[in-house]
Amino acid sequence: MNMSIKITQKDNPILRQRAKEVPLKEIGSEKIRDIIKRMSETLSESANGVGLAAPQIGVSLAIFLISEEVKNKATTEKMTPEERKKLKHFIFINPRLVKSSQKKSLMAEGCLSVEGVFGNIKRSRQVVVEAYNEKGEKFRTGASGLFAQTLQHEIDHLNGKLFTDKTEKLKKITLVAEQPNN
Ligand code: ZN
Repeated sequence: MNMSIKITQKDNPILRQRAKEVPLKEIGSEKIRDIIKRMSETLSESANGVGLAAPQIGVSLAIFLISEEVKNKATTEKMTPEERKKLKHFIFINPRLVKSSQKKSLMAEGCLSVEGVFGNIKRSRQVVVEAYNEKGEKFRTGASGLFAQTLQHEIDHLNGKLFTDKTEKLKKITLVAEQPNN
């Protein structure tokens, strides 16, 4: 049976809360593993999704997942559901933006919690993020392009921000999305 999980939508107050940090000793617990599993399933089932933050499944904790496809920019909508299930998801727990480049680019962006809307938003071209993985090990990653954009989008989610708060030229779309959603 395919248990679809609903993604919280923009008017849900949980998307406006600052997500709580996960206590380090809880990271490997069944509770956190279960949340990550549900997030991973939800992300796999979202046709255009490249990232998902815990508040988007109704959990106000500082966790997000990013699909490995941000690294090769393969367009998700061309993949079959089976192919999408095989994509690896990078797990970020208690992430912290360590550095972000002064240089910014205007990038097209969408969000699984703001259905049918895309807009242009200024994002730093490069960022460095520090976080914990699902084993409770601290790691640091540098990113550019779509990966950097998605990291900034997901960190915004954990701070209670939505991309529509600062987009330019918001536009509604009715057809299948060409841009990735986070
Ligand atoms: Zn989003």
